Amino acid sequence: MARQPKQATNCATALPAADDYTVSPQQRRTISQKLLRWFHQHGRDLPWRENTDPYRVWVSEIMLQQTQVERVCDYFRQFLIAFPTVETLAAADEAEVLAAWQGLGYYRRARQLHACAKMVVSHHDGCFPETVDSLTALPGIGRYTASAISSIAFAQTEPIVEANSRRVIARLVGFDRPLSGTAGDAPLWEIAASLVPTRQAGRFNQALMDLGAMVCRPAAPSCHTCPLATACVAFRDGLTDQLPRMAKPRASVAVDEVALVVVRRNTLLLVQRGEDEWWAGLWDVPRAAPPRGSLLRTARREGRLLGEVRYGVTHHRIRADVVLLHAGKGNTLDQLGIPLASEPTAHRWVPLSGLPRIAMPSPARRIVTLFDRADHTSLG
Ligand code: SF4
Repeated sequence: MARQPKQATNCATALPAADDYTVSPQQRRTISQKLLRWFHQHGRDLPWRENTDPYRVWVSEIMLQQTQVERVCDYFRQFLIAFPTVETLAAADEAEVLAAWQGLGYYRRARQLHACAKMVVSHHDGCFPETVDSLTALPGIGRYTASAISSIAFAQTEPIVEANSRRVIARLVGFDRPLSGTAGDAPLWEIAASLVPTRQAGRFNQALMDLGAMVCRPAAPSCHTCPLATACVAFRDGLTDQLPRMAKPRASVAVDEVALVVVRRNTLLLVQRGEDEWWAGLWDVPRAAPPRGSLLRTARREGRLLGEVRYGVTHHRIRADVVLLHAGKGNTLDQLGIPLASEPTAHRWVPLSGLPRIAMPSPARRIVTLFDRADHTSLG
């Protein structure tokens, strides 16, 4: 692919403009023909691709945010059985939606999915709008998701940039600017717009994603089987292991906490996570407020330290000591006198047998599993 010469500059940190890399109409035609032919033969057979119904496209795209394709396949089928149309989803209780979402993580997506379904029904007569602008006005739909729905479901000529297509595009045109976040991706959207064909934009976009997932992988791309090899700058210049250039990831932060398994007879105390917290709206075991040293020492001495659970949320690496507490019959949360790390929006005592039906984050499930495995003979 011919690349325009960069402008001379006296600024060492100046970055190339996106139009240094955009492709000509002829290059676009060649690339899209090769890619669509490859997609016809090798494209992935995914459950949401049976048709281009916007509801299916939308649900799959929301599920695919931050979740692997293989994992999404089963959840997608189950979710479509539970909520076959946008109307059924809009009419459901949030608790039902969150329960169906269990295991996919990032529950904020499920809550926004529900809010979006309600808005599609109430503001658009149950029909998804077709344009990127009107789609991004809906809850939980950002630029990528809007472009995917608009191109795949409504055949609009819209480009997409997500993890796989970003990598393919950057290598294809030899884009050597560090990529990270919305600002870093902005030039790539312009390049993607110069690549996307006016016909079959949706299939082209899906093909880009599949090529990134199957051939142009992050490490050791299969350039010798790639339909775009003759047009690819990274392949030509031996830069496939250097592109795309990613900005330094945010440093991770280690967090120690104490998770409380508070049991009253055969019920467990759960607190609802607040709007501004991780896992907003989900039911979690409470966390103790610092200082927690004496709480831990006493629990260890009395044999109530159930173990530890490690998990990650965003850039936090969390290690939770799990402590069992017994509550007396009729005790309220206030009467327990537990210093909690955050004020719950709500709390409830849930029968142990009913826990599988409660929408809980996966670390809380692992904490409850520790309790399940412990000796329960001392339960109050
Ligand atoms: S030739 Fe290699 S680096 Fe270029 S798009 Fe194909 S797989 Fe990716």
